[in-house]
Amino acid sequence: MSIPLLPETFAQIPRYKILYSNPSPIHPLASISPPRVSPHHPLITIHAKREDHSSPLACAGNKYRKLEYIVPDILSQTPLYHSHENNPTPPGPLQGAATTLVTEGAIQSNHTVQVVALARKLGLQALILLHRGTGGGLAAASNKEAFQRSGNVQINHLLGADVRVCEYGDPLARDATPLLDELREAGQNPYWIPGGASLHPLGGLGYARAAFEIAAQEEELGLGGSRRFDYIFVACGSGSTVGGLVAGFKLLEKIKGLDVSKTNGETRKLVGILNSPTKPREYHEKRVLAFARRAGELIGLDGERDIRVEDVRLDDRFVGTAYGVLDGESKQALETMARTEGMVLDPVYTTKVARGMMHWVNKGEVAGSDKPLEQVNVLFIHTGGQAALGAYADVI
Ligand SMILES: *Cc1c(COP(=O)(O)O)cnc(C)c1O
Repeated sequence: MSIPLLPETFAQIPRYKILYSNPSPIHPLASISPPRVSPHHPLITIHAKREDHSSPLACAGNKYRKLEYIVPDILSQTPLYHSHENNPTPPGPLQGAATTLVTEGAIQSNHTVQVVALARKLGLQALILLHRGTGGGLAAASNKEAFQRSGNVQINHLLGADVRVCEYGDPLARDATPLLDELREAGQNPYWIPGGASLHPLGGLGYARAAFEIAAQEEELGLGGSRRFDYIFVACGSGSTVGGLVAGFKLLEKIKGLDVSKTNGETRKLVGILNSPTKPREYHEKRVLAFARRAGELIGLDGERDIRVEDVRLDDRFVGTAYGVLDGESKQALETMARTEGMVLDPVYTTKVARGMMHWVNKGEVAGSDKPLEQVNVLFIHTGGQAALGAYADVI
């Protein structure tokens, strides 16, 4: 299936294919969809979009989509965006293409695996910084040694990454410039990719494109009711997955002739489920808005006018006690999905999204208020990350 509608401005942005040619599948989650009033009138349908099946590279997952738009810069002889975002005086364009991808994340980061797998596929080296101080997964693990060797850490080693572990408070966690300098002195050309690829200027484009993919799949699915997904639930971590989707859906509305500077024109409600209590919701809203506007500008929207703070809908009720730690209700959602749908979630992001989505569904928060008998279609985006489960032997 080809993706229709990508307007010229968007279609001409260079992209390097990392995903499968087919869109990641969307399938119904029949067992967790609430009981029907009658077979002809399902009130709420729930589907899953499988970003954990999006790419042939290690473990799939949502970062590959973002990286598709970053690779052309990585492979360029004069990369534009290779330096650390906190470095006030970027050292100017690299001489020649990058030789080493460098990035960072929590100990069980999925993002780092995706960057490393991409590096190997491109024939590049990979160095990753894993932060002991990020989140509570390590602190909560009963076997801390195993937590730091298994799951995604094991896969990073398997892929041949240079893995550096940062202690809590390590200055490298704030600014990796000394590390990049070290690599340059050793004759390499490092290319820095910020955590989750969200602060990268091109980081939001992948999910803006995903919005068009979802729109094309909606047509094929033959949904009832509005024939669209009325609610879309997705994890919000570093923020450019939600930000990119906001921009993409806005552009779709603009193409349809809706006045997108007014939020009441919106047709799909995108809900970003936060997974960490470390920073307040407002912090994430600001970031997501900035990512949405930046992607929006690149694909043909007027960032400031077309994308407003009201377009960013984040829910912080399901963050639990810490990033990377499962509370009782989330654990229950993980089990329910596994034992009714046979679908395995990840312990850091998608489990909390599933919990949040089930809350919205079961408490009637997705009910169509204006037309109560209209079918409501819900989409859960599975962003991947199951490889981390191996490090969470205690959760079940
Ligand atoms: C990184 C990640 C997310 C969050 O995506 P952001 O773009 O960082 O908000 C969600 N789910 C999984 C499995 C991830 O690895």
